[in-house]
Amino acid sequence: MKRRKILILCIDAGSHEYLAASDLPTIRELTKNGFYVHANAVIPSVTNVNNVSIATGSFPETHGITTNYHVDRATGKGEFIEDNRFLLAPTLFEIAKACKFADKTALFVTKKKLLRMLEAGTDIAVAAEAPPSAYIHTVGPVEPIYSAEINWWLLRAVHAVLRTDDPELVYCSTTDWVQHKYAPDDDLSQQHLAELDRIIGNIIDDEPEREIYITADHGMLAKTTAIDPGRVLTEHGIPASAIPIIKDRYVAHHGNLGGAAYVFLKDRADTLQAIQVLLNTSGIEEVYSAENAARTFRLHRERIGDLFVLADETTVFGELETAVEPTEVRSHGSRHESYVPIIGYNSPWSATDFEYNVDVGRLFLESLH
Ligand SMILES: [Zn+2]
Repeated sequence: MKRRKILILCIDAGSHEYLAASDLPTIRELTKNGFYVHANAVIPSVTNVNNVSIATGSFPETHGITTNYHVDRATGKGEFIEDNRFLLAPTLFEIAKACKFADKTALFVTKKKLLRMLEAGTDIAVAAEAPPSAYIHTVGPVEPIYSAEINWWLLRAVHAVLRTDDPELVYCSTTDWVQHKYAPDDDLSQQHLAELDRIIGNIIDDEPEREIYITADHGMLAKTTAIDPGRVLTEHGIPASAIPIIKDRYVAHHGNLGGAAYVFLKDRADTLQAIQVLLNTSGIEEVYSAENAARTFRLHRERIGDLFVLADETTVFGELETAVEPTEVRSHGSRHESYVPIIGYNSPWSATDFEYNVDVGRLFLESLH
């Protein structure tokens, strides 16, 4: 029997709008011979949460990663999530090795923090921003983190490793600087995806039998208003602070402005009143107590503050000088960026099996048992 081999590619912010605005002959061919599903991302629609969900085949209630920035409710201290200390679930790599599905597993990401988060169980693990030196000889010099080229480099590295090491399970995740800066119909957006499409074509030409899944962690939309939910509440006599879930060290991407936030109340007795104030705030679309948010979005109850807020289509949340201010940024995090494509090729499953991007990982895990 032929060995089953899988490549999962998560195009960061690779929403249908971006794919549809570009000429992508390989993806067209994959769709024709496989399937293209309009599916959901996990909410909050941010990179960490969705990549970890796909790469563990589970929701945040299970794997524990609910944000880029963790705040300890008891101490009020915050820290960036940049390794796997908070990860509660095994990775696809660990399970694939334990089940003897794979002799070799490989992880390719642009950022080191995602590498450290997901590297358990990998034999090959490469972050394009700081690759092992051998890769520089075969794939080319390191590209800037704020570029389209770094994603091209990453996918060329995947291609090189498929040729030499032939790992059975490969997970690759790009970065979304291009989409943060450019709309779907912009030249650079189109060039970015066309080159990724070309490299995917090369990969398939070399190995037409491999199962391939292409999905995204979230979409990306233009925003005009920024709100600080913590300040909104404080101005209404309810002491509180809010952490935008997107918050990380890569501020050039998004200025730490995103469409979802966890709110921490000084006094939990203010919960109902706070929900009312936030619901009455223009730009805020949905407000949940932590209990309801955990149930509705399958989040980890202890890691989402006291309230969960989602912005409307043109609004983002941040830690601001004023409660509300105009802004001009492309970002994500809300329900409006939670729609993602799933393209499957050589897949044993059919389009209707996929509701969430998570299902790419989940169905793979189920097939191992
Ligand atoms: Zn992302």
